[in-house]
Amino acid sequence: MRKKQFKAESKKLLDLMINSIYTHREIFLRELISNASDAIDKLYFLSLTDDGVGLNREDFEIRLDLNEAEKTFVISDNGIGMTEDELENNLGTIARSGSSLFKNENGDAEDIDIIGQFGVGFYSAFMVSKKIVVETKAYGSDTALRWTSEGVDGYTIEPVAKENVGTTITLYLKDDDEEEKYSEYATEFKVRNLVKKYSDYIRYPIRMDVSRVRPVENGEEGETETVIETETLNSMIPLWRKNKSEITKEEYQQFYQDKFYDYTEPLKIIHSKTEGLATYDALLYIPGRAPYDYYTKDYEKGLALYASGVLITDKCGDLLPDYYSFVKGLVDSADLSLNISREMLQHDRQLQFIAKAIDKKITSELTTMLKKDRETYEKFFSIFGVQLKFGVYDEFGVHKDELKDLLLFYSSTEKKPVTLKEYRDRMPEEQEKIYYACGSSTEKIDLLPQTDAAKAKGYEILYLTDNIDEFVLQILLEYEGKRFVNVSADDAGLVSEEEQAAVKDENEAAKDMLDYMKDVIGEDIKGVRFTHKLKKHAVCLTSEGKISLEMERVLKSMPTDSNVKAEIYLDINADHPVTAKLKAAYAEDKEALADYARILYAQARLIGGMSVDDPVALTEMICSLIAQDK
Ligand code: ADP
Ligand code: MG
Repeated sequence: MRKKQFKAESKKLLDLMINSIYTHREIFLRELISNASDAIDKLYFLSLTDDGVGLNREDFEIRLDLNEAEKTFVISDNGIGMTEDELENNLGTIARSGSSLFKNENGDAEDIDIIGQFGVGFYSAFMVSKKIVVETKAYGSDTALRWTSEGVDGYTIEPVAKENVGTTITLYLKDDDEEEKYSEYATEFKVRNLVKKYSDYIRYPIRMDVSRVRPVENGEEGETETVIETETLNSMIPLWRKNKSEITKEEYQQFYQDKFYDYTEPLKIIHSKTEGLATYDALLYIPGRAPYDYYTKDYEKGLALYASGVLITDKCGDLLPDYYSFVKGLVDSADLSLNISREMLQHDRQLQFIAKAIDKKITSELTTMLKKDRETYEKFFSIFGVQLKFGVYDEFGVHKDELKDLLLFYSSTEKKPVTLKEYRDRMPEEQEKIYYACGSSTEKIDLLPQTDAAKAKGYEILYLTDNIDEFVLQILLEYEGKRFVNVSADDAGLVSEEEQAAVKDENEAAKDMLDYMKDVIGEDIKGVRFTHKLKKHAVCLTSEGKISLEMERVLKSMPTDSNVKAEIYLDINADHPVTAKLKAAYAEDKEALADYARILYAQARLIGGMSVDDPVALTEMICSLIAQDK
């Protein structure tokens, strides 16, 4: 029989498993039981539409057989089994759930961590075994197969006699050492405890023959006998069906870890039982960190869907709106027909109803968190806030009313994230607009000259640091009657009418000079103007119209071709000493003025966080100014 090799990355994981210093070796039991339960789920699901299966719900079981003397642990299921191809693909390759991640984070330093943090599935059995034998017969197949492996060396597959459909896995336990008593995994006591700890809610009975000492019936006083009885080790009541009061935080957490392979504590657990138009139990988790692939296109949203306790699909995307795609969990409803096909789900009215209710539930839980547990909410928002913002922006803003009060933006005066409502409630009476400014970090925005005028009036400014932020505010348009406006926009309303009139006169008086400067700078800008809105700085860029500079930058960075252009003006502080210098140069030395114009424009770009087109030319101009020694 030819020995086959494990696929490369599987080999590596296997190696880690075998030589692991990971201390929770006992989780192998949970992994094997969960696989058995999955396999039964699959066959049971088939049995609903396929009479050929010939098994009823109560016929399905997982059996454990222990042999203390031989130090073996056997787990059998009458689930769907595996074909030869499946054996090759499933057990010859690293578990799919962990595989992509393993490839991504293949750094050796993290190796041990990977084992601790993610479901490693079948291979975890190698943490406790020196040899593993899998005998399996797939549903619909008339031959059975035996897969044998002693670890990294590879595995063999050969035919075997096996009557019933399903899978039997035998672990030949490692010899005990100082660190671990592997032989315990062949003892009733240990195994019973582990099943209770990790697999109590598995919906199929996990049965084991146990020996009991009992008094002999009609026997002598004190006479006992040992009998073998089959015991069901698990309660089989799914966690979500139990009453909230009966569930500990640890159980909720354990369930989350087992099911979603996330070992960080969830930020929020939502367990709700709903009766009425739709009857369902929902158990939802808001993760404490974004899944590693969350912001990639590989990420698939969805909740597991059960119909009366039977798994219909692992991921029903229709149950969650995109803006809550980070939520993990499940829904179990008695209203859904069991043999509904996965394709039909989409059109199921009952399901749409449940989805709506879940959407509302999540919104109200987040709202409560925001009110009652600000710290956790801020953490939540720092992880998933961008998703909520996408939600506001998406579909032309149809969800904006549901989401707008969940948004947080950094406040210039509070120095922390605030809600729009908080900003609105604090606004002084004469303030007519809600001000915001954009940049790559709150520190950088704080230095922007464009913020001077609003600050001088004592107005709060929202600092927008995410690319999407300004688009979000534009979709929202206003909050409780106050429009959002970029501090650097022309219509920010931060300059008094007298000042505006004065500036208009100054601009007209210096029109020739300003036009000259504009011509030097070129098509990038619409014009050069004087302003009184700057306090300290000499120049800044101001945009007019709907598209701000930041929006232009974001749109340009997107793969789709974008021709939108912000209408930009170079604003010069009329009270700044450079202004006199410019006027003098216009009268005496136009070439110098041209250089000044270029330098000022470059400065305004740099202050605004943009790059300059020709840094070399700019540097040379500045050097020649220094060299002039004036
Ligand atoms: P995962 O369960 O995350 O897919 P595992 O390593 O636990 O990863 O299992 C790999 C695959 O092997 C499973 O997806 C399943 O297809 C198959 N498998 C494992 N155990 C069984 C079993 N008892 N019966 C049928 N198939 C199984
Ligand atoms: Mg598994």
